Amino acid sequence: MEAEAVRTNLTNCGLRCTDPRVRTLGVILESKRPLSHSEIEDRLDPRLDRVTLYRVLNDLTEAGLLCRITTGGATRYGASEHSHAHFTCDACGITTCLETVPVPTPRLPDHYVVNEIELNLSGLCPGCSPKSRPNVRVRGL
Ligand SMILES: [Zn+2]
Ligand SMILES: [Zn+2]
Repeated sequence: MEAEAVRTNLTNCGLRCTDPRVRTLGVILESKRPLSHSEIEDRLDPRLDRVTLYRVLNDLTEAGLLCRITTGGATRYGASEHSHAHFTCDACGITTCLETVPVPTPRLPDHYVVNEIELNLSGLCPGCSPKSRPNVRVRGL
């Protein structure tokens, strides 16, 4: 994602293009999966201090540029639309977007208004699940 495109995004949402905002949003838009606070921190060069990053993430989320995804007890941030299921691996801790798995909309009783609905799964990702580990062979005796 080019810095110019990131700037346009910010301006369209009525946010000033400060350097921390441009860089943080750039990092998240470049990633194909939602990133945790510390993953974002690691990718920022130069780094932002925790408080600044926290504030930036808050501003971007409130402006609708980012969405918060809470899985496995940790909050991760992704670019706007994540209306699909997410999978967090218990072994490597990585959260992946399951874009082909839509979030089912339950039928609610009258007068309930849903603001948010998330489908979060945990278990072993393809890289960590023993069945699909390519180098493991069961040897005969
Ligand atoms: Zn894994
Ligand atoms: Zn997602």
